Amino acid sequence: MAQKAMQINSVEDVTKSVKIPILESCIELPIEEETLIELTQKAKDWAIMHGAGMRSKTNFSSDSLNFAPFILTPCSFPRKQFEKALKIQTVLNELTHSIAHDEEFLKKTLAETIKVDEFTGNLYKIYEKILSEGISQDTISVGILRSDYLAQSFEDNNIKQVEINTVASSFGGISTYMKPLQSYVLAELGAYDKLVNLPENNALFGICNAMIKAWEIYGNDEAVILFIIEDISYNICDQRFHEFEIRQMNPKIKVIRKTLTQIYNQSKLGPNKELIVGGHHISVVYFRAGYEPGHYPSQNEWDARLLIERSKAIKCPTIYYHLAGTKKVQQALSEPGMVERFIKDPATVAEVRNIFTGLYPLDDTNEGNAAYVLAMQDPERFVLKPQREGGGNNVYGLDIPDALKKMSKTERKAWILMDRILPPISKGYMIRPGGPIPPPIVDLVSELGIFGAIIGDAKSIKINYMAGHMFRTKISTANEGGVAAGLGALDSPYMVD
Ligand code: ADP
Ligand code: MG
Repeated sequence: MAQKAMQINSVEDVTKSVKIPILESCIELPIEEETLIELTQKAKDWAIMHGAGMRSKTNFSSDSLNFAPFILTPCSFPRKQFEKALKIQTVLNELTHSIAHDEEFLKKTLAETIKVDEFTGNLYKIYEKILSEGISQDTISVGILRSDYLAQSFEDNNIKQVEINTVASSFGGISTYMKPLQSYVLAELGAYDKLVNLPENNALFGICNAMIKAWEIYGNDEAVILFIIEDISYNICDQRFHEFEIRQMNPKIKVIRKTLTQIYNQSKLGPNKELIVGGHHISVVYFRAGYEPGHYPSQNEWDARLLIERSKAIKCPTIYYHLAGTKKVQQALSEPGMVERFIKDPATVAEVRNIFTGLYPLDDTNEGNAAYVLAMQDPERFVLKPQREGGGNNVYGLDIPDALKKMSKTERKAWILMDRILPPISKGYMIRPGGPIPPPIVDLVSELGIFGAIIGDAKSIKINYMAGHMFRTKISTANEGGVAAGLGALDSPYMVD
């Protein structure tokens, strides 16, 4: 196998007239056609047979699975940057925990946003309600977080944080199977010497372990873990992996799955605020839904969320952890002195600041108005973001001026502005259900997500660890690479020096 497959090592981004570097590929490309066709089919079958699957959106059946979109051979990622991301995760876990428990900071940061953003406003109302009823100092929160990064190609591929997810951080299950899948593919190509450059990933174990620890802390062998789910779970394998892994790690633990609508219809609080759902006593609530307006079709679902929050079940996340993951909080944290509010050690502060890229408010302040002018003048440098999760909500580049023009000054407060990160390009094959055979070589960019698990209350942290990773790769020209949405694919990082 040739080491240096790529003759060209950069491509021109015509819109920004900058050279974007191409990362060295792990194997020589292209793969000869007959081999490629056979290997693609084998890899698809490997994926389905190991549960790297999803329900079809176009041809839904609860009796069958498609393979989840994947990249045939792993895309490269700079080893040093990968290690940096792993190392900083426990710091970010603790930082998020501190933010979630800082009532003054959340109040001040979200004050304007909640007036204009109805969804965040509704989350905040629940927060205010439980604050007024008194949050006990020993209320345990479980954070299963995922900090997402893109490498900034024109800054030595330094990783920059895209966002940190505090609710429904997904793909820990399927991602755990990406290294084995791509190891199989590389070995089929005779490149078994390359396998050492694929890092271990135990995200599934790491995430489930946090839920099991929370279950143990709750201390009732009869109590079950509740997953809050959407009406239809397309990403069913990822969720089921967690459910099955929990049972395997501790055969005593039952997992039940309910939508917020079902919670509204089937739940009540016991005499000591126990959460009782259809006869089950709930110890831990793990939200895989509840992060977007569509998950709350009526007031009933908001009432269900409040009921859960009021209960003594251990929440993943609590409402304040959920709020700590908003884009507005991310932007406020980047303001001078804010990281220092939560972290005292200057060297650690510097490490955290190093992963931030430019973030700007769009409120009616000097900074907000200056950011507005900048975005109108030079939109291609930016991404415009509302307070939403789940992909498909941001506005990019040349679309920004029009979007901003349509907003009143008040409406702008619901948004933040962020520097656009330009990641390096990899070449490879994206394999999608129904995709072309043989698949063409395409330009790709990858996003690294590091999972973190943290358990604690307002006074102390009991458990804090880095819980594994996920790697998602999209077509380089796509703004977003949601795997479920259709432009992204699961991958695992191939370490390059
Ligand atoms: P969501 O909460 O919807 O996942 P994100 O902030 O993660 O919102 O943005 C969605 C996607 O958009 C990211 O996964 C990434 O591919 C792309 N993206 C977001 N911010 C940036 C940025 N600053 N530069 C380049 N791409 C970005
Ligand atoms: Mg995201």
